[in-house]
Amino acid sequence: MSVVICSACRLPWDGVTAPHCPPCLAARWLVAPGLVVEKHNPDAYPALSDHYRSVMTRDFLENRRVYLEYAAANGTWYYQTYYETYSHYTFHPLGRSPGAGVPAGELEPDHPLDGLLIADAVDAPHAFAVDPLLFLDRIEKGDFVRLAPCAERSCDNLRLTSGARCALHLR
Ligand SMILES: [Zn+2]
Ligand SMILES: [Zn+2]
Repeated sequence: MSVVICSACRLPWDGVTAPHCPPCLAARWLVAPGLVVEKHNPDAYPALSDHYRSVMTRDFLENRRVYLEYAAANGTWYYQTYYETYSHYTFHPLGRSPGAGVPAGELEPDHPLDGLLIADAVDAPHAFAVDPLLFLDRIEKGDFVRLAPCAERSCDNLRLTSGARCALHLR
């Protein structure tokens, strides 16, 4: 544990587990205009789709602040190698399934999706629900890699997504 004090909200957080202040991150996600795009909205269809799609639950949409605050405080950061962006993953936020999968050609979801992924979590946050086992597969394949520590000697904090140093050593 290495405590970092947020320069914006003044709250402390553990720099070893998160590069950015969790409450400020959740606040940023909450107001992101593209957080839940139409194709992941369960009310946007009911039209048959030729493709499998994942939708968020209505519970997630109605209680998104609570989900996002929990996720920001408990999830894990990854670098997404293909898109060269930073993503944030939380397993079973609040002990609930944040989404569900709708098979191709069906109107309704038929299985829960227990992982919450915030893709491009810094610049253009976009939430969707994923299957935790498939997500683990993608980690094993190297599609998602954990963040590196701070370049400062003997600092275990995660480096900021914008550079080689942590929030503490950037100042
Ligand atoms: Zn903050
Ligand atoms: Zn550092």
